[in-house]
Amino acid sequence: NADMALYEAKSSGRGRCVFFSEDMRIALKTKRVLADAVLGGLERDEFFCVYQPQFESGSLRLSGVEALVRWRRPDGTIELPSKFLGLAEELGVVNRIDQKVLSQVIADQENWKAMGLPVPRVSVNISARRIADPQLPQHLEELNIKPGQIAFELLETVFLDTPNPIITSNIAAIRSKGIEIEIDDFGTGHASIVGMLQLQPDRLKIDQQLIGPLVLGEKQGILVKSIIDIGRMHGIDIIAEGVETADHVRLLKQMGCHFLQGYGLGMPMPECDLRSRLKAGHWDFSAVA
Ligand code: C2E
Ligand code: MG
Ligand code: MG
Ligand code: MG
Repeated sequence: NADMALYEAKSSGRGRCVFFSEDMRIALKTKRVLADAVLGGLERDEFFCVYQPQFESGSLRLSGVEALVRWRRPDGTIELPSKFLGLAEELGVVNRIDQKVLSQVIADQENWKAMGLPVPRVSVNISARRIADPQLPQHLEELNIKPGQIAFELLETVFLDTPNPIITSNIAAIRSKGIEIEIDDFGTGHASIVGMLQLQPDRLKIDQQLIGPLVLGEKQGILVKSIIDIGRMHGIDIIAEGVETADHVRLLKQMGCHFLQGYGLGMPMPECDLRSRLKAGHWDFSAVA
C-alpha cells in the first residue's frame, strides 16, 4: 500500500504537496487489490481471448476475426479490457498479456486446422508498449506463423512522432513473417495521414465513434466517406468497426467500405462458439436484415 501511495505522489509531480483524503486512501487500496489480482491472474493463466467476426461488405462472407482479451477471475467473473488493461500497462505486464493472447490464437488456429475447419485470419491487438518491445521479433520467431495467418492491430497514436527505431525494426520483423498490419481506431488518435501512408498498412479500421452516428450526407458521413476514399486511392482496405444497424450496413456498402465488424453482424464470442460457427459456415444477420 505504501508503495502505491508513493508512486501516486511522485506521478502527480515533483515538489508538490500531496494530501491523502480518506477517499483517496480507499481508491489506492482498491487499485492495489486489483493490481495484485492482475499479477496473480497472469501467474494463474486467467487471461484468454474471445473472437468477433469480420465480414466482406458485398458478399457478407467471413473475412477474418478479431481476438479480444478477457480476464476470468477465480470466482468466474469475466472482466473487459477497460477494467484491467490500463493498470496492466502501468504495471508493465501488458506485453505478457499480448503475448498470451497471441499464443492462444496460434494454438486455436492449429486446432481448427486439425479439425478440418476453415481457418480465418485473426487480428490481434498490440499495445503501444508491445510494438516497441525489443523482444517482439524473438517471440514471433518462436511461434510458427504462416503468411496471412495473423494481422496486428496497431493504434494510430504509435505513429505520431518521428519514427522510433525499435518500432521501425519491429515492423520490418512483423512484415517479414507475413503478418499483416492494420491501423486500429483510425480517426480518433490524431495520427498524421503522411505517417500512416508511409507505413502502408494493409487495412485501416475506422473507429466505432465515427460509425455510431453515421447518417448519409451529414458531416459524419462525409468524414467516413473521405477516409474510405483516401484508403482506396492508396490501395488500403477499410474496415468499419461498431457496425450495429441495418442503416450502418447499407451506408457503408454504398460508400465502398470493404469490410464490416460490429454487434449487428456478430458479437465477440468464446472459441467454442466460433468453432461451431466455422463448422456450420452460417452467420445470423437477422439484426441488420
Ligand atoms: P478495439 O480494438 O477498438 O476493439 C473493439 C471494441 O469494441 C471491443 O471492445 C468490442 O467488443 C467492441 N465492439 C465491437 N463491436 C461493437 C459494436 O457494434 N458496438 C460497440 N459499442 N462496441 C463494439 P473490448 O473487447 O472491450 O475491447 C476494448 C479495447 O481493448 C479494444 O478496442 C482494444 O483497444 C483493447 N484490447 C482488446 N484486446 C486486447 C489485447 O489482446 N491486447 C491489447 N493490447 N489491447 C486489447
Ligand atoms: Mg482492435
Ligand atoms: Mg478498434
Ligand atoms: Mg475502437
